[in-house]
Amino acid sequence: MAKFNSLQPSPRFDRAALEHVLTSSEASQGWTIEASEELYRIHSWGDPYFSINADGHLTVSPKGDRGGSLDLLELVEAIKQRNLNLPLLIRFSDILEDRIERINACFAKAIARYKYHGVYRGVFPVKCNQQRQLLEDVVRFGKPYQFGLEAGSKPELLIALATLDTPGALLICNGYKDKDYIETAMLGQRLGQQPIVVIEQMNEVDIAIEASQRLGIRPVLGVRAKLSTKGSGRWGVSAGDRAKFGLAVPEILAVVERLRQVDMLDCLQLLHFHIGSQISAISVVKEALREASRIYVELVGLGANMQYLDVGGGLAVDYDGSQTSFYASKNYSTQNYANDVVAEVQEACRMKGVTVPTLVSESGRAVVSHQSVLVFDVLGSSDAPSQDDIAIPEAGDHVILRELYDIYQNLNASTVQELYNDAIQFKEEAISLFNFGYLSLAERAQAERLFWACCRKALSVVSDADYVPEDIEDLNQAMASIYYINLSVFQSMPDAWAIDQLFPILPIHRLNENPSCRGTLADLTCDSDGKLTKFIDLRDVKHVLELHPLQPGQPYYLGMFLGGAYQEIMGNLHNLFGDTNAVHIHMTPKGYQVEHVVKGDTMTEVLGYVQYDAEDMVENIRRRSERALHDNQITLEESQLLIKHYEHSLSQYTYLI
Ligand SMILES: *Cc1c(COP(=O)(O)O)cnc(C)c1O
Repeated sequence: MAKFNSLQPSPRFDRAALEHVLTSSEASQGWTIEASEELYRIHSWGDPYFSINADGHLTVSPKGDRGGSLDLLELVEAIKQRNLNLPLLIRFSDILEDRIERINACFAKAIARYKYHGVYRGVFPVKCNQQRQLLEDVVRFGKPYQFGLEAGSKPELLIALATLDTPGALLICNGYKDKDYIETAMLGQRLGQQPIVVIEQMNEVDIAIEASQRLGIRPVLGVRAKLSTKGSGRWGVSAGDRAKFGLAVPEILAVVERLRQVDMLDCLQLLHFHIGSQISAISVVKEALREASRIYVELVGLGANMQYLDVGGGLAVDYDGSQTSFYASKNYSTQNYANDVVAEVQEACRMKGVTVPTLVSESGRAVVSHQSVLVFDVLGSSDAPSQDDIAIPEAGDHVILRELYDIYQNLNASTVQELYNDAIQFKEEAISLFNFGYLSLAERAQAERLFWACCRKALSVVSDADYVPEDIEDLNQAMASIYYINLSVFQSMPDAWAIDQLFPILPIHRLNENPSCRGTLADLTCDSDGKLTKFIDLRDVKHVLELHPLQPGQPYYLGMFLGGAYQEIMGNLHNLFGDTNAVHIHMTPKGYQVEHVVKGDTMTEVLGYVQYDAEDMVENIRRRSERALHDNQITLEESQLLIKHYEHSLSQYTYLI
């Protein structure tokens, strides 16, 4: 997992990381916004869209280097004044436009550089984010490039058919297909669409042939190849010999023969592959391209009317900004990627004297991740026990207390490893003694306080050490504060919970103050998995996040970035926390404009998903109140207040206000 040689001292033990343990008030001086920029690695993952202004607020430049910027804190406050509460998803349509322009510009540049005699026609995979306004924007911003859509299921096909209206743009039809799917796609041709039905399973060939004969439509068909090149990391299993999708080479040949038999080989025009998402190593991309390009030229040789090579998705996002082949990063740029696609395909075609294909890619994550920012507030925090309140044991006190105090006094850089482990031992013994009745509750409390004091001291004595023993490293996490956030991880960052995906998370204000606390984040759900304990870091991941001490009466806002792909649709209703409020922001010459407001779920809506009817529920409470009133268990005022709260809640947001 380590991205760099981990012999270097852990970055978690720099001075700053420990100052809060020692003296948090002294540490707030001399902090700069540059220090925050570096700490949260904002430029590494956020360029050119995110930065910090002189007030210490996060800023968003939705048009990159070409347009104005917004103070995110001011924007959040302005949106709250429109009666939209946190958590709030903000979509910046200009960022989306910029991403679409960039990928097309990179392919255009690569095509010019290699004098490739073909064009690029990208498509956006609908499954990455099906939200209507966003998809309409994708189509609109993609028009100058004839950017199309990719559907992976029947409902996505319905979306694509209704949304895509760009002449010449492709509509790639992937996923498992039945007769309805294939006929609907083919009939799309009659509307002027360019659907390409990609055969992923052997049985789909005959469905397609029969549909074509029934409808009298000659479809454009593709085949999805199961490459032997495997993606790396989390999604590596999408390819390889036992992958879930695609046809092995013998099956591709069978498709060719079957189409030849019915005189439809001219319909076969596209070769598709997709080796997985978030391919972090460019070498893997190249290897897949080489294999696929070879299959492509061979298909030409077999007499198929090949026109398109579709390289699938996989173009990665650098979530941690480390520019490495770590799973949360990538070791290449979009330009490198485009160059490799163009160069590899061109070379394979040149060797066999074959005309180069139109290049198609299905990048989802790389197109939509950056456009949304999720802002949420911190409700409170709980800190590890503090050092101030240890009482020095006296001669008559239990020996275990005196032992722990001894350890506390003798802890230093050279004794830390041994004495820290002794302290753990004594703490465990103190608990056994308590359980057997030999230690009072007050004595146990004192033992625990002494133990925590030892932990703090252990952390502080290793602050300058080059080498930090692993068990003491873990202490950093154990001693961290817990910040409670007004959010459901299951609803808004499902991949952080399900597959440990990392997203940049940081405060959106106070970035000119030293973030002197170390914390993990706990969400609103009553689920112990509803927490965030892994954060981006230059080396590997870090288990605590640098945060500011909460100030009484002052809100503290955090932002989650790069979450625009997959998270929205995969989020679930655990504990019945529903969709968050969302707004679409568009930059104008005078500032910005709120283009769409998509209100989050109300309690009535989420209850409806599990088949409750709000009116019935209110009626139920009303009946019970009447009965309780009749039995003199409630007053009329109380019953009216209860019904008022109940009815009001039903129309409200599921999060805390
Ligand atoms: C998921 C998927 C994509 C999108 O992948 P990204 O890594 O998000 O670009 C593209 N094509 C197919 C077939 C997919 O299943």
